[in-house]
Amino acid sequence: MDQLHIFLLPLTAYGHMIPALDMAKLFLSRGAKTTIITTPEFAKDIRQQGFDDIGIECVKFPEVGFRGGDDDAFSSQFAIYALQEPVEELLERFHPDCLVADMFFPWASDAAAKFNIPRLAFHGTSCFAVSVSENMRLYRPFEDVSTDFEPFVVPDLPGRITFSRTQVSANDRGEIKNDFDKVLEEGIESVKRSYGVIFNSFYELEPEYVDRYKKVLGRKAWHVGPLFLCNNKIDKANRGKLASIDEQECLKWLDSKNPNSVIYLCFGSIAELSDSQLHEIASALEISGQEFIWVVKKSSTADEKWLPEGFKERTKGKGLMIINGWAPQLLILNHAAVGAFVTHCGWNSMLEAVAAGVPMVTWPLFAEQFYNEKLMTDVLKVGISVGNQKWSVEVHDGVKREEIAMALERIMSNVESLEMRRRVKELGEIARKGVEPGGSSHSDLSCLLQELCDYHQSTSSK
Ligand code: UDP
Repeated sequence: MDQLHIFLLPLTAYGHMIPALDMAKLFLSRGAKTTIITTPEFAKDIRQQGFDDIGIECVKFPEVGFRGGDDDAFSSQFAIYALQEPVEELLERFHPDCLVADMFFPWASDAAAKFNIPRLAFHGTSCFAVSVSENMRLYRPFEDVSTDFEPFVVPDLPGRITFSRTQVSANDRGEIKNDFDKVLEEGIESVKRSYGVIFNSFYELEPEYVDRYKKVLGRKAWHVGPLFLCNNKIDKANRGKLASIDEQECLKWLDSKNPNSVIYLCFGSIAELSDSQLHEIASALEISGQEFIWVVKKSSTADEKWLPEGFKERTKGKGLMIINGWAPQLLILNHAAVGAFVTHCGWNSMLEAVAAGVPMVTWPLFAEQFYNEKLMTDVLKVGISVGNQKWSVEVHDGVKREEIAMALERIMSNVESLEMRRRVKELGEIARKGVEPGGSSHSDLSCLLQELCDYHQSTSSK
């Protein structure tokens, strides 16, 4: 048949856009033509990052230019519905062989169906997290405990997966409060009407959950990740956007450190910690005496009231780097000096840590991050929880310096962390093999592409 043409419709937030671009590159590398539908702002970003061979079709959000990942993240979800018409026009005009649409586009399955185009859904998370969320909604096990902090088991899943009520996302508890919650609910429903789901994950990371999803529940799913490993021309220093620190300066600093001696702290592209929480982290860093790269997302670098008094003077020359803004995360995680990652458990960060073979201190905040934490700590045993109990989309607060310092000490010095390091390095190796010819992710993608070709042929012969 002719070359496959795949349309991608990612949410314009960095945690979604970054893997979508990797996915586009992956499809290209396997001979498909790819086109990303996005906003003019993100189109500029994409071009700046040199993705010249990816086609771009721009659609304009009405009233507000929703970017996501910056100050206005998730503030204009309603605009998502206004995109349906322009996207349908594009589908009608180009008639691609497939539409890979983020789960946050609730109308995508129906729009694609109008033109007999298969819609693939992209959750941007693991099969494990999707399975936990589904069963939370189905069985509501958090209603069977008498206190917020009493652990309960999620029914009907492999393993004994436990949570406390306050760790369950508001949507999964049935609290639908705003436009964003509604988009999420409708998005989840629309995934059920999709042709299948693409996971940025790999089979060996969550085999029992993949088998259950595909074989027991009978769903179509393809595990084709980690997507960033499929793209060997990736710019590790300026992924998503230009880094706020010079690549060479960062590398020089890391090169001067011993292997596995530096802890890297980053809470992703959206999360906001309160000044008092930042203060607790700074105090914990001082207590631990370890060397760090700490990414702090503060718009004003001059105003550092959140730092304990005299912090900078006391820590000067003691191996602490603060990055204000955007860190070259992939570059940092893949440096031999980095020995642990304090992470908010965004799925991209989890995969990046696993692929780099770096054990984690897990500090989930919202979205499906508490579920990702469980996969890393209880199932794969490559992370230690900092102990955050409270799921919240608000500004984050509440983890005490002693708890943070304790987790840091455990991840850097204990026998258990040596075992974690061994396990996570092994998983990283498996991840790399998986994207090579003959590997699980490579083969799953081959199956998907073949299925799309077959779909194309069966519909064009009618
Ligand atoms: N990222 C980065 N520098 C930063 C913050 C984030 O490169 O300072 C990248 C990170 O490597 C990952 C993505 O942005 O690829 C964040 O996605 P994730 O799913 O971890 O979290 P989210 O930002 O969606 O909460």
